[in-house]
Formats: sequence, structure tokens, C-alpha cells
Amino acid sequence: ESLINRIAAGEIIHRPASALKELLENSLDAGATSIRVVVKDGGLKLLQIQDNGCGIRKTDLPILAERFTTSKLSSFSDLSRLTTYGFRGEALASISHVAHLSVVTKTRSEVCAYKAQYSDGRLVPSQAGHTPDPKPCAGNDGTIITIEDLFFNIPTRLSALRNTSDEYSRILDVITKYAIHNPKVSFSCKKAGSGTPEISTPSGSTTPQTIGMLYGHTVTKEILHADIVSPDNTKADETWSAQAYFTSANYQAKKTIFLLFINHRLVESTRLKRALEGLYTGILPKGASPFIYLSLEIHPRAVDVNVHPTKKEVHFLNEDVITERICDSVQDILAEKNS
Ligand code: ADP
Ligand code: MG
Repeated sequence: ESLINRIAAGEIIHRPASALKELLENSLDAGATSIRVVVKDGGLKLLQIQDNGCGIRKTDLPILAERFTTSKLSSFSDLSRLTTYGFRGEALASISHVAHLSVVTKTRSEVCAYKAQYSDGRLVPSQAGHTPDPKPCAGNDGTIITIEDLFFNIPTRLSALRNTSDEYSRILDVITKYAIHNPKVSFSCKKAGSGTPEISTPSGSTTPQTIGMLYGHTVTKEILHADIVSPDNTKADETWSAQAYFTSANYQAKKTIFLLFINHRLVESTRLKRALEGLYTGILPKGASPFIYLSLEIHPRAVDVNVHPTKKEVHFLNEDVITERICDSVQDILAEKNS
């Protein structure tokens, strides 16, 4: 059973960056305004994320890493959150099958923090022979999740991920994208034992400011913005809205930088990317590429973004119409700017 769970978990958690994506979403879900990440060996040795979010109640800790228990958690009161971040309750469970997972957490109403360690979906005692209870400890409001020795029990996976600097780049890339999508939240990321973080954003920034901080001011200087909504005659449960930030003809990157969030989840859509990229043909010189960040909000029933966590490529209802309308708006603004 444990082997099957491990294989299943390895399908959800591909690499350090995919574990981090889940943890970032949990922290944002918990209402954090500050998220600090510490990494060792590209996240394979250590991946730690500290947030100042709502924390996890002591009574929820024993079942935290069981699969599909989310709805059982008493702190999970706001059902509207189901429409934004994961409803699967699989991330922590999966991680506990392929790494050493520990949690230190404190809610505002508790007087101290609690520490819990997990293995194969279950709470384990911190010392052999002790009862597997969350142990009281010192700690700030919020949650620290520590993942150590990721894939220690999947040697083939581990050897496939030997390039730790590549894994670290992927981690920075995920944080960069979430930081742009959440400009009010302060993010940082550094290597364990190092003083200077590779990423550090203040809280309360604007989207263009954050794009400038993370992708360089050549991007921000030329950043254009489109605020797009579904047509007035759209059926009530098919309405949608989108925010796009994109560069004009004066910005030229070697490769397209495309960030897509659907309902606040980082996803991929080759279709949308190609369509938006295509608008720059004839505007940008040959070989030059744009920066495009698109945030789309759509009725949760219209999108299969959460069907399975490994399915990063998304599809949604009315994809043709929505893609076309977004492209029209972006094209209008580009044309106006370059006329
Ligand atoms: P899901 O996010 O799909 O519910 P996870 O395994 O990612 O499943 O997390 C399980 C639950 O643990 C979450 O629903 C949430 O209640 C709680 N949780 C996880 N991380 C945090 C965090 N950083 N702050 C507060 N609660 C958290
Ligand atoms: Mg989650």
C-alpha cells in the first residue's frame, strides 16, 4: 500500500518546484501577507516555507496529511475558497509519502504553536516510543512547513533531478510568478545559510511595480494594461473577467514570457499563449518576444483547472470566444500604442 501511495504521490509532486507551488497556494489560501522560502540543494534537501496566515488548529493537525480530508478540517469554513485554490486535499498527503514533512503552526486564538511530523499520511511521534501528538512549542502566528529529503524513497526520481541549480531556478520562477499575481503579499526566497535572498518583494506593491522588480524595469516602462469583461449578454454563470499586463513593441525579449493564472492558480494554456504571442507578429522585429501576464477569472464550473494537479494545461468552457475577446482587447491597445 505504501509503495502505491508513493507512486501516486510522485505523480502529483514531480519536483521541488511542484511541491512549492502547492505550499504557496496553501499559504495564500490561508490569507498570508508574508511568505518566506528557504531552500537547500534545489529544494531536494530542504524546502521550507513560512507564512503569517491563519494557521492550522491543533485539532486539525492529526488528519492534516491524510488524503481528501480537507472538508473535514474545521478551519475550512469558507466554502468560497473551493473555487480558488485546491479542493483536493492531496498536496500535504502526497508530500508526506515522498519526503520528511513537518509543520509548526499557530492560530491567532492559540497561546502557543504546535509542531507535528508526518510520514506516509500519518502523524508520527517526534521521538520513538512517544505518542504521535502535536507538541506545543514556541512560534509566531502562521505556519512553517518543512520538507526534507524530498524523494529519499524514490531513488530513480532523485537521480533524475541531480541538477540542483536547475531545480532552484524553477523554484524562483514559481515564486516570481506568484509574487506578480499577488503584489500585495511580500515574498522572499533564499538559499539556506545565505544572507541575501534571490527574491525579495515588499508587501503592498502594485502589479506593474512587482513586474518591474522581478523582470526588470525595461518591462515595466512599456507595460500596457487591459481590463476585459465578458459581453453584457453572457449567461449569468458564464460571465468572466480578465486582467492583462503586456509589453508594447519597444520591449524585446529572446523568449516569450507568459504568465497565466486562472482563478488564481498558475496554469498553462498553449492555445492562449500562441494566440496572444501572435498579436506581436509584425509589431516586434523577427526573433523578439513579448512579456504577457494574464489573470482570468471564470466560473469554477467552467474550468477543469483542478481536475488533476498534474494537468497543468487547462481547458475551459467558451475557450474560443474568451480567447478571441481577450486578443481583440490586447490588439486594440497595442495598435493604439504603436499608431
Ligand atoms: P488542499 O489545499 O487541497 O485542501 P493540502 O494538502 O494542500 O490540500 O492542504 C490541506 C489543508 O491543510 C488545507 O485545506 C488547509 O486547511 C491546511 N493548510 C495547509 N497549509 C496551510 C497553511 N500554510 N496555513 C493554513 N492552513 C494550511
Ligand atoms: Mg493545497
